[in-house]
Amino acid sequence: MRRKTKLIHGGISGDPNTGAVSVPIYQVSTYKQESVGKHSGFEYSRTGNPTRHALEELIKDLEGGQAGFAFGSGMAAITAVMMLFNSGDHVIMTDDVYGGSYRVMTKVLNRFGIESTFIDTSDLTTIQAAIKPNTKAIYIETPTNPLLKITDIAGAAKIAKEHQLLTIVDNTFSTPYWQTPIELGADIVLHSATKYIGGHSDVVAGLVVVNSEELATDLHFVQNSTGGVLGPQDSWLLMRGIKTLGIRMEETENNTRAIVQFLESHPAVSKIYYPGLETHPNHDLAKKQAKGFGGMVSFDVGSEANADVLLEKIKYFTLAESLGAVESLISVPARMTHASIPQERRAELGITDGLVRISVGLEDVEDLIEDLKQALEK
Ligand SMILES: *Cc1c(COP(=O)(O)O)cnc(C)c1O
Repeated sequence: MRRKTKLIHGGISGDPNTGAVSVPIYQVSTYKQESVGKHSGFEYSRTGNPTRHALEELIKDLEGGQAGFAFGSGMAAITAVMMLFNSGDHVIMTDDVYGGSYRVMTKVLNRFGIESTFIDTSDLTTIQAAIKPNTKAIYIETPTNPLLKITDIAGAAKIAKEHQLLTIVDNTFSTPYWQTPIELGADIVLHSATKYIGGHSDVVAGLVVVNSEELATDLHFVQNSTGGVLGPQDSWLLMRGIKTLGIRMEETENNTRAIVQFLESHPAVSKIYYPGLETHPNHDLAKKQAKGFGGMVSFDVGSEANADVLLEKIKYFTLAESLGAVESLISVPARMTHASIPQERRAELGITDGLVRISVGLEDVEDLIEDLKQALEK
């Protein structure tokens, strides 16, 4: 099955009992048992729910893994994955990860003895050097947020295997439509499905796919024990979103390419971060490991004051956190998504006060370019 077909026919389609073409929303918490312990596969909806199960089967198929899991948010998904580790274990992480991922590691999970080191994973020798005797995993976000750095997934997974570490990839920015990390050697792939997978700014959700029976058993145990599951209504919304993921990602790519071309020629823009640019330091790698570059672009307008003028004038880009939806969004990472990262740390990473991040949506690209043009005018 090719990718666009799999988005429609992967997982479990429809309802065999009624012929309904859409998977029904099983708004139910508990299930009748014929006799004690004898049931038709579902007993209580924290443990398993048919609508959530259909979504979990679908994301498993799309990522090419052994089992899928749906959580109440991307952060719940990330936290559940981290619960696979024990007190005293160490995880190596990409330095410009999503702000919330940095926060949960350094302010919450550290209190339970899970250690983390943040490094530039786009440099494989840096990964190698960060491995300690208690290291258990390499956690990669690629492309990163907001600087669009690229890590070599296959290269990192190879190092991980040599040291018996797990490779975990946050695939939120690329989605399985463009990038399938399990094929490149990753053990666990996770998503904030709030973004492209849902795609319509109407649901907060997280997804995880694992590539072995053992990890599937362990993660299901964590999911059922800690209980951060996704409800049936939201599971259904994600399946609805996934049906159009292919055409949304293709159109996003076209719009983004045109916008980047425009920004490149604009004198008010000092620096553009986009893996699709040939001048991006990891352009070749990005091209090799993913089929598309995505719709996230960051660019520098020089100062906080300039960024504020742009934000005030812009019409079609909504000032908001989040990304990956049909409507174009704009944000200033230093004061929004990355505000939870201390100022000195942000400076080290290059997240300047003039850095603007856009998530390109599905409006007519001519309108988006005209809008950026008028907002960037002095
Ligand atoms: C948004 C986001 C998260 C967190 O997901 P939520 O659904 O907001 O909890 C994690 N990783 C990345 C890359 C994100 O963009």
